[in-house]
Amino acid sequence: MTEAYITLLTNNSYASGALVLAYSLRASNTTKQIAVLVTGAVSHSIRDRLSAVFDAVIEIGEINSHSTKNLKLLGRPELGVTLTKIHVFNQTQYSKVVFLDADTLVLKNVDDLFDTANGSLEDEDRNKRFAAAPDAGWPDCFNSGVFVCKPSYQDYNGLFEMATQEGTFDGGDQGLLNSYFSEWSRGESSNRLPFLYNTTPTAVYSYAPAYQQYKDKLNIVHFIGSFKPWQWLRFADGTVFPRNTSSKDSITLVQQWWNIFDRYIGGKPS
Ligand code: UDP
Ligand code: MN
Repeated sequence: MTEAYITLLTNNSYASGALVLAYSLRASNTTKQIAVLVTGAVSHSIRDRLSAVFDAVIEIGEINSHSTKNLKLLGRPELGVTLTKIHVFNQTQYSKVVFLDADTLVLKNVDDLFDTANGSLEDEDRNKRFAAAPDAGWPDCFNSGVFVCKPSYQDYNGLFEMATQEGTFDGGDQGLLNSYFSEWSRGESSNRLPFLYNTTPTAVYSYAPAYQQYKDKLNIVHFIGSFKPWQWLRFADGTVFPRNTSSKDSITLVQQWWNIFDRYIGGKPS
């Protein structure tokens, strides 16, 4: 069955992120499919631009009050985005998925990620069919911006039930996924991806010597936080205007994002 990279767009404001990510995957010469999940809030003109680079633009249902289960969610608005991400587990047309946040950038071919998360759906230990890299803030938790999974109704439903019954400890998808795949940090090493597959620039300036040592081996950069690459100001020649809170190294990574933007998209971010 087909294997795919999947990203997510819940509105137009992350569209440049999703496009740059897709072009970076194409530049890596991947042999896998590339798909984006969009909600009803994503405009038609954005969908047209997505269709030019993604193999599939898949509309996912919004969480609404029509289903009994969803009724339980009323009064829990923060669960909205969380539940949107778990739609990834419902994409059973794919046998294996590498999920990437729209604020990630692929620097090298990472198709080897599809060789991880090999546990079967019948295995009682669900942690074996999931792989992710540590979160720099709390390394016993994984960061949910990059993960490998096998979509199944079983896990989709399990995650949905857990969200509605227990909520999520951080108010987002990362808390929920860490509660569901709770044995990740004690699991087999093949389910623990190297940090190089989800490097967050914050870690670059908190451990600069490690960055110097490993920067040539970076596979995927993840621009976590509220200020995304497409929001950076630039000089007329295209170089990014340095923000005083950022290290030189992380500015270089943002510049790499813009280089993909200029090369394959151009104009101004939507
Ligand atoms: N997302 C989106 N629009 C939003 C917020 C989030 O499309 O307004 C999607 C997008 O794929 C994004 C992911 O949800 O990458 C997770 O959010 P974000 O990356 O902002 O979280 P962070 O990685 O900074 O914790
Ligand atoms: Mn992110």
